[in-house]
Amino acid sequence: MVGNSGIMDSMNRNFGLSKAGGAGAGDGNTIIFAHVPDAVDINNPADVQLFLDDFAARYAVQDTEFAFVLTQNGDFYELHGNIGAIDPTILEREILKGAIIIHNHPMLPEDVRGDSFSSFDFHFANEFQVGRQYLVSYDRRNSMEFTRQYDSEELVDSWLEAWNDSLGALTSRNRKTFYRQYETLKILGKRLEGFEFYENF
Ligand SMILES: [Zn+2]
Repeated sequence: MVGNSGIMDSMNRNFGLSKAGGAGAGDGNTIIFAHVPDAVDINNPADVQLFLDDFAARYAVQDTEFAFVLTQNGDFYELHGNIGAIDPTILEREILKGAIIIHNHPMLPEDVRGDSFSSFDFHFANEFQVGRQYLVSYDRRNSMEFTRQYDSEELVDSWLEAWNDSLGALTSRNRKTFYRQYETLKILGKRLEGFEFYENF
């Protein structure tokens, strides 16, 4: 459970188990830094909020990617990635199913306003049927959730259509790539049945 001192203290007490996940399609740059069984009750909203706030406090402003994973049965994992990516598939599919995951995007402060989940994040969430996904970068706190599973190919088209349409929501002055993920997610949240996008958590 998460006490006043947060998940990290719990993690430190149980530190170890560096290779609990087994084979995944990892990029070689993501490691399982910690695994704490029975750390957080995923059905207790207050505990889940502490888990999310704990992550945001530590990792919202970092120059590499990190993730906390909270599984259906309350197991906690901390993953460390690199400057451009973190790959949760270092954990087995069964562990990821229904899991709440929060990760950060390393950003320059001036780039944050257009940031949101990447196409990798989006396709991963569908493919692995995880629970609600959370993202922090500076003050940005977005979340998303699939309540149905799409055919992967179909979803590639959905993303590309929304990505193209996101240009219309932007002025010519801010049509840089990193401004488009947020607009793309907003479009998908409105357009895609069984997919929700939330501005804040
Ligand atoms: Zn991401």
